[in-house]
Amino acid sequence: MMERVIRAFGERFNEPPAFVVRAPGRVNLIGEHTDYNDGFCLPMAIDRALWIALRPRRDDRVIVEALDLGESITFDLGALSPGEASWGQYVTGVAWALPRNGYTLSAWEGVMSSDIPIGSGLSSSAALELAVARAFAAVAGFPWDPERMAQVAQQTENQWLKLRTGIMDQLVCASGVEGHALLIDCRSLSLEPVPLPSGAVVVVMDTRTPRGLVNSAYNERRAECEQAAQRLGVAVLRDASRADLERQSGRLAPVLLKRAQHVITENERTLLAAAAMRAHDAAELGRLMDASHDSLRHDYEVTSATLDTMVACARQQKGCRGARMTGAGFGGCAIALVQAPDIASFIAGVFQAYERETGLTPDIFACRPAAGAGLVGFGETDTAP
Ligand code: ADP
Ligand code: MG
Repeated sequence: MMERVIRAFGERFNEPPAFVVRAPGRVNLIGEHTDYNDGFCLPMAIDRALWIALRPRRDDRVIVEALDLGESITFDLGALSPGEASWGQYVTGVAWALPRNGYTLSAWEGVMSSDIPIGSGLSSSAALELAVARAFAAVAGFPWDPERMAQVAQQTENQWLKLRTGIMDQLVCASGVEGHALLIDCRSLSLEPVPLPSGAVVVVMDTRTPRGLVNSAYNERRAECEQAAQRLGVAVLRDASRADLERQSGRLAPVLLKRAQHVITENERTLLAAAAMRAHDAAELGRLMDASHDSLRHDYEVTSATLDTMVACARQQKGCRGARMTGAGFGGCAIALVQAPDIASFIAGVFQAYERETGLTPDIFACRPAAGAGLVGFGETDTAP
């Protein structure tokens, strides 16, 4: 990927890029649909990323070519407008959000490409936002503050693209730590890197089915969580315990009870999963991932037939510690925790079983926990341009 953007930059501009930036995709190990309830999640950045090779421009104009789509966009920093939702809006949105957070921008031009599957729930959108933010930081020379940049990227999605999304994707994309997942407290936004148990590998299993219902169902679930919290007399479900739920279950309609049940138990599972990882206990982590999927399937009702099939296929294989959907649901990707020696047979076995059951061809690959967005060749945490 890096070679691809550098080569394409050279062909277009007849010189090497001044900067190369990368921002990773992510999977969430556990803690699903908890972020907007101020709860806990445990995502990791992965070794698939979006890359931009670029150089500064002297004028006010930003030009970006998306190699994967064969399209490019051009805009002036002084004249931004939110047009129809397309990839360019993620770029102009970051250019809109940064100055609102006190950053002075200067212009650049470049080419980008990514090996993160688009629209599969691995957060190619956060990678795009954070890579663009990193590019602006490089050319304007402002210090790179991963947590503030995650908030800028979230504002881009929420306020520019008018998508209601939580902060998890952007935080892990900005702040990922190699070899680790991040335990995120979505209330305080505090982050704790926790190591992936040695000998355990995370395998991504893309169902190759679109997340059709995801936007409307996502808004519906958020509204249900707000109602459930109100009934339970708490500001957000983060503040309700299992005991609160049992005591007040009569005040909640069955659907709201199930939604609250998922969020409350998922928060518990996420903290237990982080403890299991600190203890290098892959078996316990896998067990919690299984329980998470079952809760998302039966209580939160955001899985799909293909996600359930993929998870079932994974659980049949030798070396599988646990499997669950990841991301918002209704299609997209599942993940499994697999013993390293069994990876090849696991991937082949799931591929065959899923294809046989669904007639669909999945995309299945092992991934490693990677560092967050950075400037290549300057160190991931370097603040200098
Ligand atoms: P996800 O974040 O789960 O991959 P989203 O629907 O949130 O899915 O974001 C996908 C959008 O991000 C794409 O429709 C496109 O606008 C933008 N995007 C992601 N990757 C690329 C890329 N490589 N080139 C251009 N645009 C991209
Ligand atoms: Mg996204």
